[in-house]
Amino acid sequence: MLVYSVRRVLETLRKKAPEVSWHKLVWSNICPPRYSLIVWLLKKNVIIMRDKLLQWGKVMDASCPLCGLDVETRDHMFLRCSLSLRLASLLNCHFLRHNDWDAMLQFVSIALCRNSQARKWHALV
Ligand SMILES: [Zn+2]
Repeated sequence: MLVYSVRRVLETLRKKAPEVSWHKLVWSNICPPRYSLIVWLLKKNVIIMRDKLLQWGKVMDASCPLCGLDVETRDHMFLRCSLSLRLASLLNCHFLRHNDWDAMLQFVSIALCRNSQARKWHALV
Protein backbone atom coordinates (compact mmCIF):
# COMPACT_ATOMS: atom_id res chain seq x y z
CA MET A 1 0.00 0.00 0.00
CA LEU A 2 1.35 3.40 -1.02
CA VAL A 3 1.17 6.06 1.69
CA TYR A 4 0.78 9.67 0.57
CA SER A 5 1.82 12.61 2.67
CA VAL A 6 1.87 16.35 2.13
CA ARG A 7 5.62 16.33 2.74
CA ARG A 8 6.23 13.71 0.08
CA VAL A 9 4.09 15.61 -2.46
CA LEU A 10 5.85 18.90 -1.69
CA GLU A 11 9.26 17.28 -2.01
CA THR A 12 8.23 15.86 -5.36
CA LEU A 13 6.86 19.15 -6.68
CA ARG A 14 9.37 21.66 -5.45
CA LYS A 15 12.56 22.34 -7.28
CA LYS A 16 15.66 21.52 -5.29
CA ALA A 17 18.12 24.35 -4.96
CA PRO A 18 21.60 24.32 -3.50
CA GLU A 19 21.67 24.89 0.25
CA VAL A 20 22.70 28.41 1.23
CA SER A 21 24.80 29.28 4.27
CA TRP A 22 22.03 31.37 5.82
CA HIS A 23 19.15 28.89 5.52
CA LYS A 24 19.08 28.21 9.27
CA LEU A 25 18.60 31.89 9.92
CA VAL A 26 15.41 31.96 7.89
CA TRP A 27 14.06 28.43 8.15
CA SER A 28 14.59 27.44 11.78
CA ASN A 29 13.25 28.50 15.13
CA ILE A 30 16.39 30.53 15.87
CA CYS A 31 14.81 33.60 14.37
CA PRO A 32 11.28 34.76 15.26
CA PRO A 33 8.93 34.23 12.28
CA ARG A 34 8.32 37.93 11.66
CA TYR A 35 12.06 38.50 11.25
CA SER A 36 12.46 35.36 9.16
CA LEU A 37 9.89 36.58 6.69
CA ILE A 38 11.50 40.01 6.41
CA VAL A 39 14.98 38.53 5.98
CA TRP A 40 13.74 36.15 3.31
CA LEU A 41 11.91 38.93 1.45
CA LEU A 42 14.98 41.15 1.65
CA LYS A 43 17.27 38.42 0.39
CA LYS A 44 14.89 37.74 -2.51
CA ASN A 45 14.72 41.51 -3.15
CA VAL A 46 10.95 41.49 -3.23
CA ILE A 47 10.43 44.10 -0.50
CA ILE A 48 8.58 46.98 -2.07
CA MET A 49 10.76 50.06 -2.05
CA ARG A 50 10.34 53.34 -3.88
CA ASP A 51 12.31 52.13 -6.91
CA LYS A 52 9.61 49.54 -7.57
CA LEU A 53 6.80 51.98 -6.80
CA LEU A 54 8.28 54.36 -9.37
CA GLN A 55 8.40 51.56 -11.96
CA TRP A 56 4.74 50.81 -11.28
CA GLY A 57 3.82 54.49 -11.54
CA LYS A 58 2.72 54.72 -7.92
CA VAL A 59 5.13 57.50 -6.91
CA MET A 60 6.72 60.35 -8.84
CA ASP A 61 9.95 60.44 -6.82
CA ALA A 62 11.99 57.40 -5.80
CA SER A 63 14.52 59.33 -3.71
CA CYS A 64 15.51 57.95 -0.34
CA PRO A 65 13.33 59.70 2.27
CA LEU A 66 16.18 59.60 4.80
CA CYS A 67 19.10 61.11 2.91
CA GLY A 68 17.64 62.13 -0.46
CA LEU A 69 20.98 61.30 -2.08
CA ASP A 70 20.04 58.19 -4.02
CA VAL A 71 17.12 56.07 -5.18
CA GLU A 72 15.46 54.12 -2.38
CA THR A 73 16.35 50.51 -3.18
CA ARG A 74 16.80 47.55 -0.89
CA ASP A 75 20.56 47.83 -1.13
CA HIS A 76 20.56 51.56 -0.55
CA MET A 77 18.37 51.36 2.56
CA PHE A 78 20.12 48.42 4.19
CA LEU A 79 23.69 48.62 2.88
CA ARG A 80 24.54 52.13 1.73
CA CYS A 81 22.31 54.89 3.11
CA SER A 82 24.43 56.94 5.48
CA LEU A 83 21.52 57.88 7.74
CA SER A 84 20.16 54.36 7.83
CA LEU A 85 23.59 52.99 8.74
CA ARG A 86 24.07 55.67 11.39
CA LEU A 87 20.73 54.73 12.95
CA ALA A 88 21.68 51.04 12.85
CA SER A 89 24.95 51.88 14.56
CA LEU A 90 23.15 53.78 17.31
CA LEU A 91 20.91 50.76 17.81
CA ASN A 92 23.92 48.41 17.86
CA CYS A 93 22.75 46.57 14.74
CA HIS A 94 26.20 45.29 13.90
CA PHE A 95 25.02 43.06 11.08
CA LEU A 96 24.39 46.10 8.88
CA ARG A 97 28.11 46.80 8.71
CA HIS A 98 28.51 44.39 5.81
CA ASN A 99 28.35 45.62 2.26
CA ASP A 100 26.62 42.65 0.65
CA TRP A 101 23.70 40.42 1.57
CA ASP A 102 25.55 37.14 1.62
CA ALA A 103 28.20 38.46 4.01
CA MET A 104 25.55 40.01 6.25
CA LEU A 105 23.42 36.89 6.39
CA GLN A 106 26.42 34.68 6.97
CA PHE A 107 27.54 36.92 9.85
CA VAL A 108 24.11 36.78 11.47
CA SER A 109 23.78 33.02 10.90
CA ILE A 110 27.13 32.31 12.51
CA ALA A 111 26.39 34.63 15.43
CA LEU A 112 23.04 32.97 16.04
CA CYS A 113 24.29 29.42 15.64
CA ARG A 114 26.95 30.01 18.29
CA ASN A 115 24.13 30.48 20.73
CA SER A 116 20.81 29.44 19.30
CA GLN A 117 18.71 31.12 21.96
CA ALA A 118 16.18 33.44 20.35
CA ARG A 119 17.11 36.28 22.68
CA LYS A 120 20.45 36.49 20.89
CA TRP A 121 18.54 37.52 17.78
CA HIS A 122 17.02 40.36 19.74
CA ALA A 123 20.51 41.42 20.77
CA LEU A 124 21.47 41.69 17.09
CA VAL A 125 18.35 43.54 15.97
ZN1 LIG B 1 19.43 57.22 1.92
